[in-house]
Amino acid sequence: MRLLLIEDETVLGNAVRDNLLAQGHATDWVETISDADTAIITTPYDVLLLDLNLPDGHGIDFLRSLRKQGNETPCIILTAQDQVTDRIEGLDAGADDYLVKPFDLGELAARLSSVARRYAGSPNPLLRIANMEIDLAKRQVFVDQQLIELTAREWALLDQFARHPGITLSKPRLEEALYEFGAEIESNTVEVYVSRLRKKIGNHLIKTLRGIGYRLEE
Ligand code: CA
Repeated sequence: MRLLLIEDETVLGNAVRDNLLAQGHATDWVETISDADTAIITTPYDVLLLDLNLPDGHGIDFLRSLRKQGNETPCIILTAQDQVTDRIEGLDAGADDYLVKPFDLGELAARLSSVARRYAGSPNPLLRIANMEIDLAKRQVFVDQQLIELTAREWALLDQFARHPGITLSKPRLEEALYEFGAEIESNTVEVYVSRLRKKIGNHLIKTLRGIGYRLEE
């Protein structure tokens, strides 16, 4: 998934970002509301992770203004304030979930999957597509009941396909899923990773639509 982390505490921000990257989520990290505004204009995110006390404003005001503009990107609030009023205010402003610091990184991963699944409209994390079985929650893929080892980027790509089976995904969209904000993108990167993924899961599952993109066959 493509994630935006909005957090001004350096140690926590680093830890969360590294953890999410290791799980194969392309994660952009910004420390101010102003930088978050800029990032959101240029990039479609799957989930936002939002701290409340930020140097240039309050996270709830940011979220409220986002929702007012019609932006419905799922949002998980991260905050030190263990207060019921904050929680209610955050959920009222359009947050999907809430984590109180300090939180366990495993718990964050579970909440992320659950929020993303809710939005993708498939609450069941186990997907069966042809001879392949994908467990989005455990981040495992089986082909003919055989567990397949994927790298973080291969998984990031398969995760995008699995969330949109039968739908053609454009190359720019897949590039977004593979890369962090500002990272160099080679013109053939998507082709390279699709080809690696095909070698592992089988050639027939991902179809190339020349000039349009790629599709996971249902
Ligand atoms: Ca803060």
